[in-house]
Amino acid sequence: MTTANPDLAALIRTIPDFPKPGIQFRDITTLLLDARGFHASIERLAASAPTDIDLIAGIEARGFIFSSAMATHVGKGLVLIRKDGKLPGATIGVDYALEYGTDRVVMHEDACVPGQKVLLVDDLIATGGTALAAVRLLRQAGAEVVGASFVIDLPDLGGAEKLRAEGVPVTTLVSFE
Ligand code: AMP
Repeated sequence: MTTANPDLAALIRTIPDFPKPGIQFRDITTLLLDARGFHASIERLAASAPTDIDLIAGIEARGFIFSSAMATHVGKGLVLIRKDGKLPGATIGVDYALEYGTDRVVMHEDACVPGQKVLLVDDLIATGGTALAAVRLLRQAGAEVVGASFVIDLPDLGGAEKLRAEGVPVTTLVSFE
């Protein structure tokens, strides 16, 4: 693949008022359609990630796309962090608050060996609620979360800062104010 310098922000489409009024939905499907853009996003995430890692962890659902490409790119295994009720084996879980109500992320209890260094990957960080729950879950499994990588940051919502305050180094490629 040639290494031009694709403008990732220009490849991400914004859909206003989805899934509800007032939300500017940052749609990565247009980035995925662009082979060079998708490839560059994985190369840039990998280049800025810590090198000493044992596993990648991806968050359902769009996070699976970037985390699985990252895992094959850096030659590491992949842990799936899912919504409750989807994984077939014994799981551990963490509940987290949403604007209205709560949600829960789970992983297989034996997915990591305690002490393993894990890099968390998702498409986007907004309030950080999902990523913080994923960090707590991985730590509950005994993992050391050595970094978190996102294609998109919404800095006004403060999620990346919250993760850094938890001691997790954060890398993002594109910011939308
Ligand atoms: P949060 O827990 O608030 O950091 O939200 C992060 C999760 O919600 C990510 O997995 C995103 O896929 C999704 N998300 C939140 N806000 C947006 C947005 N404006 N556009 C696209 N996806 C979003």
